[in-house]
Amino acid sequence: MVIVMKPNSKESEIKEVSKVVGSLGLRVHISQGTERTIIGIIGDKRRLGDVPLELMSGVEKLVHISESYKLSGKTFKPEPSVIDVNGVKIGGKELVMMAGPCAVENREQILETAKAVKKSGAQFLRGGAFKPRTSPYAFQGLEEEGLKLLAEAKEATGLLVVSEVTSERAVEIADKYVDMFQIGARNVQNFQLLREIGRSKKPVLFKRGTATTISEWLNAAEYIMNEGNYNVILCERGIRTFETATRNTLDISAVPVVKNLSHLPIIVDPSHAAGKSVYIDALSKAAIAAGADGLIVEVHPQPKKALSDAAQQLSPDVFNQLCKDIEGIAKIVEREFKYGG
Ligand code: PEP
Ligand code: MN
Repeated sequence: MVIVMKPNSKESEIKEVSKVVGSLGLRVHISQGTERTIIGIIGDKRRLGDVPLELMSGVEKLVHISESYKLSGKTFKPEPSVIDVNGVKIGGKELVMMAGPCAVENREQILETAKAVKKSGAQFLRGGAFKPRTSPYAFQGLEEEGLKLLAEAKEATGLLVVSEVTSERAVEIADKYVDMFQIGARNVQNFQLLREIGRSKKPVLFKRGTATTISEWLNAAEYIMNEGNYNVILCERGIRTFETATRNTLDISAVPVVKNLSHLPIIVDPSHAAGKSVYIDALSKAAIAAGADGLIVEVHPQPKKALSDAAQQLSPDVFNQLCKDIEGIAKIVEREFKYGG
């Protein structure tokens, strides 16, 4: 349920309505639009009973939200969300570029990558420290040691850091080092973990699962938001289809569909979608043309030697050219991206 206030309703009227809703044991979320304010009601709406909210001063109407995802939906907040991650805004006019290796492997590797991607214009360094690998015998990541190296690379370059967390213990450890948590495809419906992330206020890059519908994905985002963390950035990373030429199939339609259903920003990960470095350029450009708010791309100084996802790592040179091209595409779709930082 949302309360739509009249255009130019007064601050005092918004406060009064919020107070009444709060006194019923419900939470409110105020969304200040360019024309009117929308007050979202969070909690069991049966608590509203017969309270005649629609008769209160400044109220235009009450609107029932029919979708099961409420906080992430557009009825609740019609204007797109712009999420500020320690100074970098995601979802605004400027595109965000996140880049780095699949996994942090050692100091030289992460520092070299960080310096290179920064030079090309990336604002975020990515690097897995807790790696949820398909096989338990594959490289599992350096855990806290890897996070310390990411922090060192951040110190050296000024890049913000994003890294995946796979458990509540990982959240606790990573909180000290990262600017943004990443929830990976395999944990999209790990509701306990999502609740834990929701209790933090730190932004979260929330990947779609390989077999998750957009509705299930938005419902999962709801678990994070319902705990009070509204700083959710969705990430389309390819879904499983019958096609085997690529590792997954990039669901490019997810970009406009999400933009239509939700106010949350969406970025695209062409690397895990393609699984092969040769396709990443085309998918990246398609994603930006379709309206994505940015990209997360795997880059490794020696792609062939990568300890994980070697086939999909871009070399710093190829990534540099991609950034150059993205600057041009950004202009066509009335976005901005500064090649070269
Ligand atoms: C990753 O980003 O390295 C990763 C494991 O991604 P996903 O969860 O999308 O598979
Ligand atoms: Mn990877």
